[in-house]
Amino acid sequence: DRDSRWAEVDAFFDEALGLEDEVLREVREATAAADLPGIEVSAAQARFLALLCRMVGARRVLEFGTLGGYSATSFARALGDDGEVVTFEIDPRHAEVARANLERAGVPDRVTVLMGPAAESAQGLIDSGAEPFDLVFIDADKPSNPRYVELALQLTRPGSVIVVDNVVRRGGVADSDSDDPGVLGSREVLQLLGGHPRLDATALQTVGAKGWDGFALARVR
Ligand code: SAM
Repeated sequence: DRDSRWAEVDAFFDEALGLEDEVLREVREATAAADLPGIEVSAAQARFLALLCRMVGARRVLEFGTLGGYSATSFARALGDDGEVVTFEIDPRHAEVARANLERAGVPDRVTVLMGPAAESAQGLIDSGAEPFDLVFIDADKPSNPRYVELALQLTRPGSVIVVDNVVRRGGVADSDSDDPGVLGSREVLQLLGGHPRLDATALQTVGAKGWDGFALARVR
């Protein structure tokens, strides 16, 4: 079927492009072994985000939603020695698994896992006058996406990049009658991105090992 063909193509990309090295594979496997859900980004998506960081010369990355630290590991490695990743996680067990994974991946000094509701952690950074982030990856609870974009705007500068993951919801985003909170969050965040005076944005659908989904990409004016 379609889904397995998409997964086969991702597997070929992985092999041809060497997307997942041993370090990332170990993070993925340790996350699964700890019984966390397998909802981290695919290897191809992680590489895309890492390339994006390098293309914009990012030094500081902010992430909403850590899980086991797969994307955080990839970000940390893309940024290099003087880079910094701050990532928000509400589930203490996820944060614990992530910290162990970051340690094993050799990047614990470059990543700060802030435990607690992402909106509160973000407000804390705003209140403390945190230096702006160059790239923000929003990948936590989907209904809060509009709120997270508003917070991200207070933690970025002109030229910063904001990526909002999983906005397609297997096509649900096009359903104006949906009462699914994830779909509503996606529809609302896309409308916010489209109408915001400080953002230029697009959204792209993706297929692959993770099924049919997509992400929104925005640049702060
Ligand atoms: N970015 C990760 C990766 O690709 O490796 C995957 C993140 S996973 C899709 C979403 C994570 O967000 C989960 O670990 C979940 O516990 C966390 N989360 C959910 N609601 C949250 C909230 N209100 N604040 C912070 N984290 C939250």
